Amino acid sequence: MIKLTAIFDLEFDRMREEIRRRGARRILVQLPEGLKSKAPKIASIIEETGATVVISADPCYGACDLAINEAKSLSADLIIHYGHSELAVKSSDIPILYFEAKANVSIENAVKDAMKYLESLDNIGLTTTVQHVHKLSEAEDILRKAGKKVYVGHEPGLKYPGQVLGCDYRNAKIISNAVDAFLFIGGGIFHAVGVFLATMKPTIAADPFESKARRIDDYAKRVIAVRWADISEASRARRWGVIVGLKSGQMNIESALRIKGELEEAGREAILLALREITPDALMEFPSIEAYVNTACPRISFYEPKKFSKPVLTPREMRVALGKISWEDYLELGLL
Ligand code: SF4
Repeated sequence: MIKLTAIFDLEFDRMREEIRRRGARRILVQLPEGLKSKAPKIASIIEETGATVVISADPCYGACDLAINEAKSLSADLIIHYGHSELAVKSSDIPILYFEAKANVSIENAVKDAMKYLESLDNIGLTTTVQHVHKLSEAEDILRKAGKKVYVGHEPGLKYPGQVLGCDYRNAKIISNAVDAFLFIGGGIFHAVGVFLATMKPTIAADPFESKARRIDDYAKRVIAVRWADISEASRARRWGVIVGLKSGQMNIESALRIKGELEEAGREAILLALREITPDALMEFPSIEAYVNTACPRISFYEPKKFSKPVLTPREMRVALGKISWEDYLELGLL
């Protein structure tokens, strides 16, 4: 079995130095699901510095989810956040140390495997997650040597060129008109599907962990078909729930209030529901609600809709359901 500490750079030396330099005494650590198994190792390293460590066992899917309130209630004086880059979210009075967990894996074989899908295409857009941003120039070289023109977008607010988040594909959208297809570098297909949904361009996912590439267009088209079905069902709903996320970077009460107003103007009933984790079990407690609008993380609508017994729409999708935006315009704008 390959060790996660060998695959991902967990920067233990920097962690020790920063804890000592800051004189932190009680530290709350947040880890993404894929790194939670490293909690005992991380805890023992922090304890070597003389600080007390508490590991957050709650799910953590992004830097939108900083455990600021939890750290305050534990009287922690530092948050260590693994696996994501810093977002421009509300400021915290508890300092936050980010460790991005860059992947120490070669991208070469995965990118070379992707070439079979790119043969007839000249202009390629490159995207990736924070785990592989340091390898993007290597991917660019491989593509250029194969005669391709390579585009990498960099929009304000995103830390790295070419970086995408599950809810932010601006680095792909900004170059979309110039490219024939996108090459996404990273594990799984979640973000690659997002690139397709945001741009509607052919998208190849090159997975460095498996040294393989695949087209994700067919999967993404199935996601679009499910969105159409959910929007159609929601268009007939009388009673709606408007979800307000309680995570630090997901809360948007102003947007939720606007949406409630739009639903009521359209003759529907709407109530506001505040949640940290949006799960099927939590929503099942409201059987009379026929459809939801989610103002928090959009991944639920695009990647987990089948888990929910009622449609969970994004705000833009709600406007399609109310007839304010056409389905065609929605596709044209990009789903994300
Ligand atoms: S809102 Fe969702 S997609 Fe965006 S960073 Fe947070 S977890 Fe990721």
